[in-house]
Amino acid sequence: MSFVFPPPAVVSVPVVGRAERFPVARVYCVGRNYEEHAKEMGFTGREPPFFFLKPTDAVVVVDAGQTGSIPYPRQTQNLHHEIELVVAIGTGGRNIRAADAFKHIFGYAVGLDMTRRDLQGEMKKQGRPWEIGKSYDHSAPIGPITPAAQAGAIEQAALWLQVNGQDRQRSNVAKLIWNIAETIEHLSAAWDLQAGDLIYTGTPEGVAAVVTGDQMVGHVDGLTPITVNVGAA
Ligand code: MN
Repeated sequence: MSFVFPPPAVVSVPVVGRAERFPVARVYCVGRNYEEHAKEMGFTGREPPFFFLKPTDAVVVVDAGQTGSIPYPRQTQNLHHEIELVVAIGTGGRNIRAADAFKHIFGYAVGLDMTRRDLQGEMKKQGRPWEIGKSYDHSAPIGPITPAAQAGAIEQAALWLQVNGQDRQRSNVAKLIWNIAETIEHLSAAWDLQAGDLIYTGTPEGVAAVVTGDQMVGHVDGLTPITVNVGAA
């Protein structure tokens, strides 16, 4: 097969303890999936889960022990961090029941759903799509994927994010409004999940701005932490 120009490289994430990498298919994200975060965004009560996507090439891979970097994105003056547990799908499917969901999971990683909050807010106000706030270049940093069997009690894992050594977000995966299995049930009802899909499961409270020169450290118990510097525009 030949192409009119070279096709883009496959986006892939390292796997803890394995030489083979995890090739990324789609990148799904869950909105407002921790109660205290929903409140800080001005919402209350349990609502059905909702989803958005980021382009696969928005993924920024940060290897174990390395410091990653993202440029300060264009067109924003309010770049927010969102620490999230990322679920990596190993076996696809549709209409997956929550009781069967864990069979479809390859592993887990620490991710950051970086957000141009001012642009997202403007789109919300106008009832327009969120892509310009959520789905921009370099918006999805991720650390290495830990296979599920080695990830420990991920459903009770603490997660936190520090900026320049100071706590910004600190919570526990147990506080997800829609837990991992329920999220997969809802997501696979609307889309055919495939091997390689990543699901950013939502962020707890404490989202706030970062600026050029800041260093973010994200952590989920049992997984490889992620360190990302915010570079120049
Ligand atoms: Mn998020």
